[in-house]
Amino acid sequence: MTLAGPARVSAFIGLGANLGDTARTLTLALEALAALPDTELLAVSSLYRSAPVDASGPDYLNAAARLETALPPEELLRRLQAIELAHGRERPFVNASRTLDLDLLLYADEQIRSEHLCVPHPRLHQRAFVLLPLLEIAPDLTAPGLGVLQPHLAAVSGQRVERLPGD
Ligand code: AMP
Repeated sequence: MTLAGPARVSAFIGLGANLGDTARTLTLALEALAALPDTELLAVSSLYRSAPVDASGPDYLNAAARLETALPPEELLRRLQAIELAHGRERPFVNASRTLDLDLLLYADEQIRSEHLCVPHPRLHQRAFVLLPLLEIAPDLTAPGLGVLQPHLAAVSGQRVERLPGD
């Protein structure tokens, strides 16, 4: 007899890094996402290079990932922060450069406004480096409060972001 585990939902994670060996950091972060308990890594976008927004410093390397997970959203956020810490993230000031930034972009079709967690991520639709990788892996994606995401690309078309060729 098999016992059904807790129901799994779809969650989307935004990844960014702009210090150190960024490509390696993102690879390790994706491996850590795949190793989360009760979680499956279902899709990963290409890598994108983007200019820092509201900040200085080196260009970012960005990607998006789709998970299926039974972890509750607050627990998933804690796990993401643990992965950030494991990669030496320091936060000297707001928008400072970081070795790894993991954002919980979407969690099922939930809208969450708690002390530590806002979902959909509040700046999701304002950042080309989030929208482009996200729509690459889920072209028809919708978000609560934002509707179909594809049309939001027009508003961020002036932001510098470049999809890197795959290997
Ligand atoms: P940041 O420096 O941009 O990674 O922001 C980290 C802070 O944002 C943490 O204190 C989190 O608790 C908070 N936060 C709120 N909503 C989210 C979210 N959807 N994903 C990641 N961090 C979030």
